[in-house]
Amino acid sequence: MWERVSGASRIGIAGHIRPDGDCIGSCLALYNYITENYSCEVDVYVEEVPENLAMLRNSDEINTVYPDVAPYDIFFALDCADRERLGKAEKYAKKADFLYCIDHHETNPGYGTENHILPGAAATAEVLFDLMEPAKISRFTAECLYLGIVHDTGVFKHSNTTRHTMEAAGALLEYGVNTADIIDGSFYEKTFIQNQILGRCLMESLLCMDGQVIISYIDRKVQALYGLSASDTDGVIDQLRVTKGVEVAILLKEMNPRVWRVSTRSRNTVNLADICSKFGGGGHARAAGCTLNGSVHDVINTLTREIEAQLGTCSDN
Ligand code: AMP
Ligand code: MN
Ligand code: MN
Repeated sequence: MWERVSGASRIGIAGHIRPDGDCIGSCLALYNYITENYSCEVDVYVEEVPENLAMLRNSDEINTVYPDVAPYDIFFALDCADRERLGKAEKYAKKADFLYCIDHHETNPGYGTENHILPGAAATAEVLFDLMEPAKISRFTAECLYLGIVHDTGVFKHSNTTRHTMEAAGALLEYGVNTADIIDGSFYEKTFIQNQILGRCLMESLLCMDGQVIISYIDRKVQALYGLSASDTDGVIDQLRVTKGVEVAILLKEMNPRVWRVSTRSRNTVNLADICSKFGGGGHARAAGCTLNGSVHDVINTLTREIEAQLGTCSDN
């Protein structure tokens, strides 16, 4: 891969729509790594940079507009389960001479010219770390990779955290990463509005299926009332998930009238990648998403039917 990079003159990088910590961390890690070690021109594209992630080196180099440019010699799609999730950057991926797809989503079909998809990795940042040459990693690149791992593991606590994840994070510490700044500053710290919306979602959440499923939703009216941006609800689902007795947490966000963006998390048994894939979405077994249409109750019914089917199968075994 690096040989191809060294022979390229123009490289593009993009992550998925509604970018999270792993997405931005991976994109900037690769941007920093290539610009620091190779002499090619690199453009990095992401829909928006959430405020809590702007601490990363060169976050101000990210393009949030997508001009028509000549095809890239190489394009990298990072943390992107399918090509459509590149959003407006999909046009670059389609036209590029060579497309690398680097990811860890089990639902990724492998749409690159060359694919590095490791469903066993906790984060795309972990996959990238394995691909990079240790001597070429700077502190800035290490910070981006570390942040990506921190975010996708919920600070090393989700079940996707393996020995290898910890070893990668441990190796990154040796580059001088300030872990407290990254963990507190980008993950735990919340704005006043983010805390308010968290409180509201918890207060209005409802339990169903004998307390095995917890659901909360944010309609367009509430989003407008608080002036929410896309990442302001990050973390809400994690708090719902740790409700005692709950196996599945669901957060619904109304994107357009009767169009709901579905976020799901499970604790032990329910495979959400399977469920969300049925509705055109995808993700991981314990964290997945999709978009569904209808009233809140239609969406809840659709999802609980699928969850019930899986839990029913589990208890029969
Ligand atoms: P979220 O609830 O948005 O944090 O998403 C949970 C996980 O599922 C993340 O790893 C996402 O990248 C993935 N995911 C969410 N929505 C989709 C989708 N429509 N297609 C594929 N993967 C998704
Ligand atoms: Mn992601
Ligand atoms: Mn990820």
